[in-house]
Amino acid sequence: MKILITGGSGFIGSAVVRHLIENTTADVMNIDKLTYAGNQESLASICRSPRYHFDRVDICDRVSLDRVFSEFQPTHVMHLAAESHVDRSIDKPDAFIETNIFGTYSLLEATRHYWCTLNETKRVAFRFHHISTDEVYGDLEGMDTLFTETTSYAPSSPYSASKASSDHLVRAWQRTYGLPTLLTNCSNNYGPYHFPEKLIPHIILNALAGKSLPVYGDGHQIRDWLYVEDHARALVKVVTEGSVGETYNIGGHNEKKNIEVVFTLCSLLEEFAADVKPAGIAKYEDLIAFVKDRPGHDVRYAIDASKIERELGWKPEETFESGLRKTVEWYLNNREWWQRVLNGEYKLSRLGEKA
Ligand code: NAD
Repeated sequence: MKILITGGSGFIGSAVVRHLIENTTADVMNIDKLTYAGNQESLASICRSPRYHFDRVDICDRVSLDRVFSEFQPTHVMHLAAESHVDRSIDKPDAFIETNIFGTYSLLEATRHYWCTLNETKRVAFRFHHISTDEVYGDLEGMDTLFTETTSYAPSSPYSASKASSDHLVRAWQRTYGLPTLLTNCSNNYGPYHFPEKLIPHIILNALAGKSLPVYGDGHQIRDWLYVEDHARALVKVVTEGSVGETYNIGGHNEKKNIEVVFTLCSLLEEFAADVKPAGIAKYEDLIAFVKDRPGHDVRYAIDASKIERELGWKPEETFESGLRKTVEWYLNNREWWQRVLNGEYKLSRLGEKA
């Protein structure tokens, strides 16, 4: 396998690249624009592998995409590059429209033109896997429904609307041109190497710094959490064993209110980091502060992942409790990684890039 992965320097992409290099014999070409969310230091453990390659490419740049396809000759594409932070999409939607919609279109066209040059055997074996989110489905009413692969799209934020658009483009390229595509929609991920703006790392790092722990609204929004390495395993299963044209929902069966997540993190920090508690704080949870809710905030997401479990035999290995323990321990043991993100030095890293 020769896997071209977009966004491989991001949170989930880097977990997929590490998984592919450590557990398969695939050659991996990571193309990434290295926006603020791209971090070469998340790939330090594998960047010296002769099977890992990197090229700094914007997926909106068709000329560079054509060059990469022609030089690398991939057998599979895994498309993760995206603008991914909902709050940023509300403040400034432009980059979301550009990368998530136009970038996906540009990648689909580059892929299609390359795919058409392949011989019959390679064309049949080729796969394009688009990685998307459960946020395209909008939010769920009540407690007894789940998102399935046939739930109607009803995105709420500029982020989820741009991802929904990209999903439609991918399905259209399969239907119209016969491009062998696969699509996955996944719930909220958490785990090591998560950029500090997202809820779980934000809470851990603010707590360690003695800063307030902001919780939107009443904190009763429900998310379905999945450990990032379980997601990486699922994605590799889908791209290698999934059926062309199919969609698979991926989730962890871990529905938690945001406020529960914050309280659990505080109690894990009491267990692992009581000795480094900032001065003047009796308990980490004393730092919790409720803040004005995000506009259009979805109330509940929950995934029915029975199709991928039944058809591809994938199941999460981590429970929310075990995954969250690992995550808190990782942030405590990898201070240099996040300190370099917080002070901006990670942007200077050239790890894994050609001289
Ligand atoms: P991330 O923001 O951590 O990483 C995105 C990566 O894409 C970064 O490395 C960034 O530099 C790169 N990128 C952005 N614009 C680019 C462009 N124009 N050209 C090339 N590279 C570009 O995101 P993530 O959390 O790792 O998410 C990866 C994918 O998974 C996204 O498509 C996202 O929608 C999807 N997803 C995320 C979650 C989640 O909980 N994080 C859940 C479900 C699905």
